[in-house]
Amino acid sequence: MEQFSVGVVGAGYVGLVTGACLAHVGHRVVCVDRDEGRVAGLNEGRVPFFEPGLEELIARARRRLSFTTELPEVVREVDVVFVAVNTPPGEDGSADLSSVASVARAVGRALAEAPGERERPLVVVNKSTVPTGSGDYVSMLVREGAEEAGDGKVDYRVVSNPEFLREGSAVYDSLFPDRIVLGADRRDALDTMRALYEPIIEQNFPAQLDPRPRDAVPFVTTDTASAEMIKYAANAFLATKISFINEIAGICELVGADVTNVATGIGLDGRIGSRFLSAGIGWGGSCFPKDVAALRAIAREYGHEPTLLDATVTVNARQRRQVIAKLQRDLRTLKGKRIALLGLAFKPNTDDLREAPSLEIARLLHSLGSRVVGYDPVAAKRAVGLLPELKVVFDPYEALEGAHAAVVVTEWEEVRVLDLERAASIMESPKLLVDGRNAYHPEDAATAGLLYRGFGRG
Ligand code: NAD
Repeated sequence: MEQFSVGVVGAGYVGLVTGACLAHVGHRVVCVDRDEGRVAGLNEGRVPFFEPGLEELIARARRRLSFTTELPEVVREVDVVFVAVNTPPGEDGSADLSSVASVARAVGRALAEAPGERERPLVVVNKSTVPTGSGDYVSMLVREGAEEAGDGKVDYRVVSNPEFLREGSAVYDSLFPDRIVLGADRRDALDTMRALYEPIIEQNFPAQLDPRPRDAVPFVTTDTASAEMIKYAANAFLATKISFINEIAGICELVGADVTNVATGIGLDGRIGSRFLSAGIGWGGSCFPKDVAALRAIAREYGHEPTLLDATVTVNARQRRQVIAKLQRDLRTLKGKRIALLGLAFKPNTDDLREAPSLEIARLLHSLGSRVVGYDPVAAKRAVGLLPELKVVFDPYEALEGAHAAVVVTEWEEVRVLDLERAASIMESPKLLVDGRNAYHPEDAATAGLLYRGFGRG
């Protein structure tokens, strides 16, 4: 394998995992972040967020992996620089590219200040999720940065390499991806990226994480605009699949069908597939809401009404309100009621609370006069003090003590295996369990003495 020298700008969920995985497979990697505290912590072996397997991976790859706040030095040394900074939604839903832009300019400046002798052009890889056309935009900004600092005669290529990792299994997803997508308008940049990813594509790196024989990873090469669109289309499809099953769940409730059985029945059809067919509170997190919003904004920029995507969002918003409606149906007034939220992270196995449904539900319940107590096995620490409307506890039974109702918001293993009889014994009447993830069997809950309400069933 050819060893590359790699820079990764943005040591967040995507950047840090990418950096650690590339170091694990044999490259030399420097992660750059503007957050000094984050970099200092990483240099002392502290990972700034919860991601299974990441701390061990960083420790194992440590001699090929370093952390800094100094971008210019890194740009001068590396063959490839990944941009993995955040692209949050702006006011109108479109992606805010200001961090990507400032990194691109800084890369251009650094290149111009020390052009040196490069064996090959610097490859600037956009891993942040960005709208179509951002490849050209980044290329322009690198050039402008170079013109600010010198004569602008610098040699670089821009590549789009969207990321598909899932928080909670990010290390696994990066080492054993379903596919690697690369967009570039120049062949030589794609060749460099193919060589960089070779150990992952060929699956020939040391595999402590998964000793099974592995097939080669599909490697999709295309133009930059298509690569950028693949990322948005993938997330929009997944969000739509969840909204679809939630639409069906609403109809199931009316006709007396059980959506969990319906999902099993349709999911076995190979054309449909069983994943992402869980009805409930709906999708949240740092990616789906912002990426669907960004894609809708792109469509509108061109005068195209994204009707299906609009409906995807409408259905998702309705699912949150369904939680309130289900509570109101059995509790009548929500004023003066204590309600336990079981799970706060936007999904299991992460401590990420960005756009978590729990936060919106807590706000809504508080505005209706309830007292809201939230439990999460991992995200509780982060959730403390986040919302004045939400009291955070570290034990699920403490949350359930004296609660009139509990809502399963995140289907953590710790939430799925609660002792329902114990829960019923410490809750207040009507001991309502609103199962926002259809995590429990309705009969088990009823036998334990709870009033059970699922989504699309019971
Ligand atoms: P994050 O917020 O976890 O991390 C971003 C990091 O970038 C932070 O540490 C921040 O300090 C750093 N940063 C911001 N501006 C910087 C600058 N100018 N210079 C140096 N560092 C800077 O974000 P994330 O979740 O890793 O997402 C990064 C990108 O990847 C986004 O575009 C996101 O949409 C995309 N993405 C995220 C996921 C995911 O599951 N989180 C999955 C696929 C794609």
